Amino acid sequence: MAFALPDSTKRRIIRLAREGAPLEVCGFLACSRTRKFKVYPIKNQLLNPVRFYMDPEEMLAVFKKIESRGEELVAIYHSHPNGPSSPSSKDWQEDYYPEMVKLIAAPEGGRWRLNAFLKTEDGYQRLTADPS
Ligand SMILES: [Zn+2]
Repeated sequence: MAFALPDSTKRRIIRLAREGAPLEVCGFLACSRTRKFKVYPIKNQLLNPVRFYMDPEEMLAVFKKIESRGEELVAIYHSHPNGPSSPSSKDWQEDYYPEMVKLIAAPEGGRWRLNAFLKTEDGYQRLTADPS
């Protein structure tokens, strides 16, 4: 399965992750009917370098905004400022939206990258990696 994103969207999420480091950042990615992607940062209530929990009030406000704009929620992103580039065991336990694509921004080989994952019975499946 592929999960292709425009470079500008990937750069935007990576920029948020870099700026938020050393803490984890998180948020939603929505898509409009005209296939335009929109990034919605949400406060990490834990202010933690290895875990995140979306601020419930901000999350609700963003949900409403996405709905009122006729957009669709397509992915949940968060960062791993100290790696790894794949979901952690905590992510697995605290995955409240198992059907949703997860995006993780993390430094990999000295460069920040954004990878997409989908939860399956056997663990997280990495979706098509971007060659760039
Ligand atoms: Zn994580």
